[in-house]
Amino acid sequence: MERKQFQAESKRLLEMMINSIYSQREVFLRELISNSSDAIDKIYYKALTDDSLTFDKDSYYIKVIPNKENRTLTIKDTGIGMTKEELENNLGVIAKSGSLSFKKENETKDGHNIIGQFGVGFYAAFMVADVVTVISKALGSDEAYKWESEGADGYTINPFEKDIVGTEIILKMKENTEEENYDEYMEEYRLKSIIKKYSDFIRYPIKMDVKNRKLKEGTDSEYEEITEEQTINSMIPIWRKNKNELTEEDYEKFYQEKHYGFDKPLKHIHISVDGTIRYNAILFIPENSPFDYYSKEYEKGLELYSNGVLIMNKCGDLLPDYFSFVKGMVDSEDLSLNISREMLQHDRQLKLIAKNISKKIKNELQSLMKNEREKYDQFYKSFGRQIKYGVYSDFGANKETLQDLLMFYSSKEKKMASLEEYVSRMKDDQKYIYYAAGESYERIEKLPQTELVADRGYEILYFTEDIDEFSIKMLMSYKDKEFKSVSSGDLGIEEENQKPTEAEEKENEELFSTMKEILAGKVTDVRISKRLKSHPVCLSADGEVTIEMEKVLSIMPDSQNVKANKVLEINPSHEVFQSLKNALEKDQDKLSLYTNLLFNQALLIEGLPITDPVEFTNNICKVMV
Ligand code: ADP
Repeated sequence: MERKQFQAESKRLLEMMINSIYSQREVFLRELISNSSDAIDKIYYKALTDDSLTFDKDSYYIKVIPNKENRTLTIKDTGIGMTKEELENNLGVIAKSGSLSFKKENETKDGHNIIGQFGVGFYAAFMVADVVTVISKALGSDEAYKWESEGADGYTINPFEKDIVGTEIILKMKENTEEENYDEYMEEYRLKSIIKKYSDFIRYPIKMDVKNRKLKEGTDSEYEEITEEQTINSMIPIWRKNKNELTEEDYEKFYQEKHYGFDKPLKHIHISVDGTIRYNAILFIPENSPFDYYSKEYEKGLELYSNGVLIMNKCGDLLPDYFSFVKGMVDSEDLSLNISREMLQHDRQLKLIAKNISKKIKNELQSLMKNEREKYDQFYKSFGRQIKYGVYSDFGANKETLQDLLMFYSSKEKKMASLEEYVSRMKDDQKYIYYAAGESYERIEKLPQTELVADRGYEILYFTEDIDEFSIKMLMSYKDKEFKSVSSGDLGIEEENQKPTEAEEKENEELFSTMKEILAGKVTDVRISKRLKSHPVCLSADGEVTIEMEKVLSIMPDSQNVKANKVLEINPSHEVFQSLKNALEKDQDKLSLYTNLLFNQALLIEGLPITDPVEFTNNICKVMV
């Protein structure tokens, strides 16, 4: 007899699982039934492409068998089964989801994959059982195996007899404790209600032998007890039902059962179209982004059904990248069943559906923004970045579609504002949509560059994400109003445009050219600033590349060393300006010291690194003594 250990991380996870992941123990049944349903799906898929297999719907079912005498509950299915290796790999390693490797192997063939991202579902069995036995015979295999485990200690695996292909999971129920009653999981009525609650839409029959009292034939008061096999789940897919018959809970249940996410959906969109194209769809906008959402691992797509039969698990062509967060399914009568991935891509029908769906999603998001702002805020927290990427990518091809979904933090409202809201609040004499970029709202608030614009009473949008400025550059303008960084050269504000007088210029020419020499290679210019009110210095940029953009670009893997043309701006009404002038006349060393200090200060304010912090602090000490 072989006894094997679970892999280390599995063991820890298993213990955690058993005790905490699911608040309600009853969901173990949902998990096992979903696995069975997936396993039947897999046989079904094989039959789609393998002519030697036929899929006879009647021979595919799930059966739940309680047995009070033995204290067991058995879940039996006629799905694809597992080989010895699969039993070991799928049930011995918690982090490795069999569904995922099945997906990889079959991806190129027909592009589908199976629900289930984490291999944790099966382990839910240990929440209610002391011993879990899995007897399985894989499709195409002559041998069957028995896998058995008593929890975290490990498992055994041995050859076993089994006639038909499929899997049987036998749970040896725990003994009752003061807090928990496990007997109920062997009660018919209880099992029935759990199945109804969580697994009503499972596409295959979930059967159970149910005892019934029936009038004895020929009598009118004598009853006999008979046992008959019943199908517990209704199997009618939710998307075929009338919207009015469905509650918010029904949609949530569907979302969870389908493993679309672990959160609650923020919003559902139920579509029934009956025109030149006919389709039903249920789409969800999740509340939170999946852990891998902003990674290469994440795969977008909707489930695609043809007339109620699942033909593809993640049809990416149904969703544009900028709406890749949407989960859900589409069912259309007009799609051919034996369709391959290549064919699907060229399917006109599918393209029409995709276009239609995108429009509905956009409308829904827009109405969410208008009518349920709190929900939209939540949505934006999770997926706003994706919308901004959408504006930026494909050379701005979708910016028109997406611009009204954008929001940025407003200096005035102290909360997120749409561009439409911003523009509607613009002052009469205001030319531009102003923005300031930085690490956090708090830091931006204190940026000297914002002083003049804020002083004018203009609203400023705060950009804290890398992508922000790039997508705005792509947008260029909104409702004919151009975007303007508060650090850019021409702010379109009178005071700022008042060029220094000739006298002023002449007077300071020497000072600025000397300072420019001192900072050679670091800045392209040193100038008098009209935007500063109380701060002595700030940095601004000449040209298209702003300082924030330089920061973002510099951390990109293939950065081309793009630099902003930095300008050191000096506030002529600040006292240090006089000190600079004095130093120019009396002490060149001092001027060099001051200039470097000021430049480094400007860098710090901007959130940029200073090249030599030690020198910087030494210089401060020099000034102090
Ligand atoms: P998930 O279903 O999320 O992948 P599970 O821990 O529930 O994770 O199951 C792990 C794997 O074990 C599944 O992906 C599947 O390959 C296999 N498996 C579980 N139950 C069955 C079953 N009833 N029939 C066939 N394979 C199964």
